[in-house]
Amino acid sequence: MNGEKTDLGWARLKEQKRAISLLKAAFAAGRISHAYLFYGHKGGGKYQTAVAFTQLLFCKRPQEGEPCGSCPECQKIAAGNHPDVLVISPDGLSIKIEQIRALQERFYYQSYEGNYKVIIIRQADLLTEQAANSLLKVLEEPPEKTVFILLAEALFKLPITIQSRCQPVPFAYLDQGERTGQDEQSLALLTKLKAKCRLPELIAALQQGGYKELFAWTEMVDKIKWKDLSKKDLTALLLEQLMVIYRNRLIWQLTKREEFILGDDALTLGQLDPRVCLQALAEINKAVFALRYNANNRLNLEVLLLKLRRIEQREKEYK
Ligand SMILES: [Zn+2]
Repeated sequence: MNGEKTDLGWARLKEQKRAISLLKAAFAAGRISHAYLFYGHKGGGKYQTAVAFTQLLFCKRPQEGEPCGSCPECQKIAAGNHPDVLVISPDGLSIKIEQIRALQERFYYQSYEGNYKVIIIRQADLLTEQAANSLLKVLEEPPEKTVFILLAEALFKLPITIQSRCQPVPFAYLDQGERTGQDEQSLALLTKLKAKCRLPELIAALQQGGYKELFAWTEMVDKIKWKDLSKKDLTALLLEQLMVIYRNRLIWQLTKREEFILGDDALTLGQLDPRVCLQALAEINKAVFALRYNANNRLNLEVLLLKLRRIEQREKEYK
């Protein structure tokens, strides 16, 4: 892995308990997905986790769901010279179609004996459109015992077609500079935020409500004060949660597979035509960019909600 130093095992990745227990459970049950999408902020341990998970798949002496770190397989993986493991990183500013083609050649035309083959794609959000299309074809008809692990900073930076072929594995947000022991705190914050902002109620208001309910909601959100979180960060988190809701509804429509759904509130929010979900996601995306470049938080949210309301209520008229 380009000579980069990696920690062996998962002992040093305690802060990503949720992601790791999901992977361990899949391994213990013998249900390895053919593609995973690890997503979360930079520096959260996605790559180390991918390496450790790969070691687990190959390890000769796994102990309690952990790779041993010392068998030849574990060592070759850590050193980056295992013949069945390939790491793809951006070539310059993007991951190019030639890189995806090269992996196809390497893994399709050579056969190994019954081993897993693992392809880790770092910064998968930098796939060019052509490269993404090419990868999609592979993911649609995955070769046997091949596991793709895509790493990306945010779920929504990848085309939904690719997302819908991967099992999502969320990595907790860790504060910069303090990246250990923060998991509990950030999870607690997200839970608190979700409870406080009542997103399912917001969706119901988008579906049935008038403008009054929406403005009351943004006013309520605008009044929330948390010492460690700026208004902008709070809005960003909310937009991300909205994104997850529409993403879930879309993926549910497309696949009807619960393992691709994040969290538990997605399936009760009413069905939406996939095209309508895509429109909603595009609008949320615009709001994310607006937030990044200027934007009065509250106005930005209000504009978005008015658009989503139109999208949701237009959908109702079709039925
Ligand atoms: Zn081992």
